Amino acid sequence: MTRPMPAQVVARAEELFDVEHRASNTPMSASEMRSALALYDGMMPTLGDRFSAEIFAEFGRPRCRMLANFGVGVDHIDVAAAADHGVTVTNTPGAVTDATADIAMTLLLMSARRAAEGERLVRSGQWQGWHPTQFLGLHVSGKTVGIIGMGRIGEAIARRCHHGFGMEVLYTNRSEKAVDFPAHQVSLEELARRSDFIVIAVPGGPETMYLIGADFLAAMQEHAHLINIARGNVVDETALTEALREGRIGGAGLDVYEFEPEVPEALRGLSNVTLLPHLGTAALEVRTGMGMMALDNLQAFFAGETPPNRV
Ligand code: NAP
Repeated sequence: MTRPMPAQVVARAEELFDVEHRASNTPMSASEMRSALALYDGMMPTLGDRFSAEIFAEFGRPRCRMLANFGVGVDHIDVAAAADHGVTVTNTPGAVTDATADIAMTLLLMSARRAAEGERLVRSGQWQGWHPTQFLGLHVSGKTVGIIGMGRIGEAIARRCHHGFGMEVLYTNRSEKAVDFPAHQVSLEELARRSDFIVIAVPGGPETMYLIGADFLAAMQEHAHLINIARGNVVDETALTEALREGRIGGAGLDVYEFEPEVPEALRGLSNVTLLPHLGTAALEVRTGMGMMALDNLQAFFAGETPPNRV
């Protein structure tokens, strides 16, 4: 187990396997990853553990044959390189969907209604009281939302926007995708131009790196807000910081960062961006569910079956 885990996950892991626990909450170093590949039959890595092709390169077939990733995003693991070295990779889809959609809505509402700015004012002791033109944000109900990546999480966000807030839903997706509520698949350019709120929900990795750059930001409406709960490098963070600094877009709400956990001073100094520390799945029952799913994958693999969530 590469990180401390919720108690129920630890208890079940110890029932199932001979377990060693890594006490640190930081990503594994290259030498730790190499030693672990040589020492253990299976592992539960997570975000930040960069199992790149170079890490696998020194092994023909490492002892470790299974990386049961704790999380749905596997952009930190070179899955093709793992396969070349006989290592199976699994993830935890589904367990994270609603919680991550909820954080997207949290950021959308906070950004639109300037909640972080307001909270900071109250906390500072400087609040002078209510008045009719204070902290005027953007009304959310009935607006148009654009979802980039209509997968499990994207669809859960779209449902919340449609059913909960009466919003018109536009979306882009890599492939054709139909949903059972009113929503229109459009081009990325049209989505940028027409949306009041844009939520990014594609996987990270080379295919989506800088999908959102200066051109996209320039096409957005001046009052529109950009929400990112996907991966930091889907957005060109420098271009976003410039657009926010110059007031070319209404605001942004971020759960993820290009060089996470580093958040540039230039971004931290802006009042029109809401910054969360990658809270997408941070609820005890959700993290427990993710751990149980990773253990299901390990259990199936070592019972000689195909694990349910093979990537
Ligand atoms: P998913 O079900 O696989 O959905 C991803 C969607 O993105 C798919 O519909 C896919 O299209 C689409 N897509 C892929 N590449 C695209 C591109 N270049 N342009 C447009 N659409 C593209 O995954 P999910 O469970 O919703 O999770 C999405 C991502 O959210 C994860 O990979 C992870 O990085 C991130 N996440 C973040 C947090 C957090 O804590 N902030 C928590 C959980 C997940 P197809 O239909 O063609 O496959």
